[in-house]
Amino acid sequence: MGRIAVLTTGGTVAMRYDPEAGGPVPLLGPEELAASLPPGAPELALEAVCSLPSSHFTVETLWQIRERTAAWAADPQVDGVVITHGTDTLEETAYLLDLTVPGETPIVVTGAMRSASDLGYEGPANLWASIRVAASSQARGLGTVVVLNDEIHAARFVTKMDTLSTATFQSPGWGPLGRVEGDRVHIPWRLEREVIPCSRLEKRVALIKLGVGMPADPLEDALHRGVRGIVLEGLGGGRIPPWWLPAIEQAVAQGVTVVVASRCPSGRVWDGYGYKGGHRTLRELGCLFSPHLNGQKARIRLMVVLGSASSPEEVARLWEHRTLSK
Ligand code: ASP
Repeated sequence: MGRIAVLTTGGTVAMRYDPEAGGPVPLLGPEELAASLPPGAPELALEAVCSLPSSHFTVETLWQIRERTAAWAADPQVDGVVITHGTDTLEETAYLLDLTVPGETPIVVTGAMRSASDLGYEGPANLWASIRVAASSQARGLGTVVVLNDEIHAARFVTKMDTLSTATFQSPGWGPLGRVEGDRVHIPWRLEREVIPCSRLEKRVALIKLGVGMPADPLEDALHRGVRGIVLEGLGGGRIPPWWLPAIEQAVAQGVTVVVASRCPSGRVWDGYGYKGGHRTLRELGCLFSPHLNGQKARIRLMVVLGSASSPEEVARLWEHRTLSK
């Protein structure tokens, strides 16, 4: 195995019980995590990017992780990069890295559901599996993957499915790309890579989940606040109630990009309906669609696209870049 960079950011994987706080808090740095590994680890380059629960991350934190990851991934002395991360927002960071960090270097994001003070702490096992994936030639050119519980998931499809289970990361409708099986890494599937060159994120992007009978107030409020993009987690395959359509029309008229995703955990955002609020009418109003990305990842994509594009045409072109990737 070659040289692997391990970047720590906090999360439960780096937590230990603190009597003063009354529970686990991030206390472990990269040296402590590296010390938990079995013999035979490759040479590691260690960096603490931050030490936070991932629910405390700002968009600036996300971008800092992206910048440090990109720097290590571009280092010719480094064969792979592993980022340890809180599981709550791990999928968003992983998708941002997948979408914006160019090159062939494997990038692996991992975490743990149990802290170092809990029985069955799985942090070292997940870190060890991640280092092995990052060092594997099979992971080259694959983009960013998420490795926990000996499963290798594509950043694009993986999501946190369970609040407590150690098998929380799954790719609903797709399954894992591969597995860490005993002494070997096995990655039978490959995804086509997509990278959008990006030097900043547009922060003013709202994510709104719809419920039955909900008034359009959250969308109207977002427009008053001056957002530049809105992701709507629509009903079923991406349906929006008819009384939301005037606010959508107003958004598009103001130059705000509206993306329709689904609140369902799996399946394509698509329909052939003719009624109001189905895709035909939403498309006519100027909405874009997120066929396969969940709402939180569609928000990341929109922050990247709006941060990179300089015209509405470019927004649409970058958004639509690859059908399966969205
Ligand atoms: N609260 C933690 C975090 O996201 C949860 C975890 O890491 O499992 O930072």
